Amino acid sequence: MQEELSTLVKAQYPLIYLVTSEEERAERAIATIAQQEKPQRSVYLWTVTHGIVEYGDRPRQSVQHNTVSPEAAIEWVVRQKDPGLYIFKDLHPFIDSPPVTRYLRDAIASFKGTHKTIVLMSPIQQIPTELEKEVAVIDFPLPNMSELNEVLSQQLEKSRNRRISTDTREKLLKSALGLTKDEAEKVYRKAHVTKGQLTESEVDIVLSEKKQLIRRNGILDYLEEDDTIDSIGGVEELKKWLRQRADAFTERAREYGLPQPKGMLILGVPGCGKTLVAKTTSRLWGLPLLRLDMGRVYDGSTVGKSEANLRNALKTAESLSPAILFIDELDKAFSGSGGSADSDGGTSGRIFGSFLTWMQEKTSPVFVMATANRVERLPGEFLRKGRFDEIFFVDLPTTEERQAIFKIHLSKRRRDISRFDLEQLAKVSEGFSGAEIEQAIVAAMYEAFAQEREFTQLDIIAAIKATLPLSKTMTEQVTALRDWARQRARPAASSVAEYQRLEF
Ligand code: ATP
Repeated sequence: MQEELSTLVKAQYPLIYLVTSEEERAERAIATIAQQEKPQRSVYLWTVTHGIVEYGDRPRQSVQHNTVSPEAAIEWVVRQKDPGLYIFKDLHPFIDSPPVTRYLRDAIASFKGTHKTIVLMSPIQQIPTELEKEVAVIDFPLPNMSELNEVLSQQLEKSRNRRISTDTREKLLKSALGLTKDEAEKVYRKAHVTKGQLTESEVDIVLSEKKQLIRRNGILDYLEEDDTIDSIGGVEELKKWLRQRADAFTERAREYGLPQPKGMLILGVPGCGKTLVAKTTSRLWGLPLLRLDMGRVYDGSTVGKSEANLRNALKTAESLSPAILFIDELDKAFSGSGGSADSDGGTSGRIFGSFLTWMQEKTSPVFVMATANRVERLPGEFLRKGRFDEIFFVDLPTTEERQAIFKIHLSKRRRDISRFDLEQLAKVSEGFSGAEIEQAIVAAMYEAFAQEREFTQLDIIAAIKATLPLSKTMTEQVTALRDWARQRARPAASSVAEYQRLEF
């Protein structure tokens, strides 16, 4: 980012929009650029509370009088003769007012050849249409390893164990990736205070603090899973695909010349294990799994808030990369993105656009794993070739797959599978999803437990008979999905030949 910003300043861009909530870090980055510039540039800050002040150690002393109003401040900037960088903090609530927009347009028109640049710094991106063509937008990324190293070194200075091995240092740094500088400072301090030291054994404290912070931000969720990919019955093709890519994000794969996988879309009937696939892939690949909750991205309280939420979530995911970004029910998340300009001022359309652009342009290794139940609600753009590496269709399990699922869930509950006739169970549960099979076992267990005895084959069969599976209650929807997927998606089950059409 620093490089990008520096290039824009060198190229004498008159107006730059820096999207960040880390003001102090961003100010320092700008000050460094200003010093390196030829001719050197002075740095000034504007806030609605103080007006314009000179950037430095004792800023209050050099307040420029009568510059609290945005218009007066911009006018003051126009009058300056020396080369300068003028940072306007949180101008976004005022930027839509016609005089402010006009003042800004006049100002930037007058900047030609003056080595003056206005930098708008705000956590929310809000640009009036009149200025859209004149402004260069930069997203200020979260701190990288070397910036975090400064934070860690400061904390180590205060602790008794100033010397730590390079290996430990790297682990402590990696564990804080994805946090802002302030957050990293807090987390290191907390780890230090808890144990009175900062060594490798504190990495777990840093990690769990980080998970809490990410959860508190509310848009991303850190998911963890104890189950392995072997706890999914069936879907052999899909599992093979995932196993083949288990080392895809390693240095070795890069040296070999392999491209990094971008993402996969899993279409399927509800309850067939789509979520389970995402969770166990995180274990298989050894990458963190971050769930993006699109419902929480939308926030109508302030204009631009939803966009800022999405941008921050994607930024966090990138800074934690390599990572898996899991979006459950992509169809629901973006179903309103088409003609909803009337209903929500076009927010969902813009969010959808930003997400697609990000998917297209992302360079960090963030693997997008998305699921969908209803293909007709999914915007066509997602289905276009090349958007995802692969689109898999997880159908209702075949007889063989159902046997495997029964085996897995009975073993999970520490039951001797030789007591059960799996073949018969698979037969009577035709049309059942994995989730429904699991539910039937649980129901059988409750029944027997209430009668203070062990559950049997017959209890499971009774539970199956008492269940009306989704495939029966939602026949139309399931058939429509199947018909669509048969043409356009890759079956997750072992092979098309083995794939048996279930009639119901
Ligand atoms: P939804 O579309 O409703 O979110 P889903 O397809 O994501 O459903 P999961 O939530 O992953 O389904 O499945 C629910 C539970 O059902 C799983 O946690 C797992 O215990 C069980 N299950 C589903 N499919 C399988 C399977 N193929 N093998 C083993 N267990 C399964």
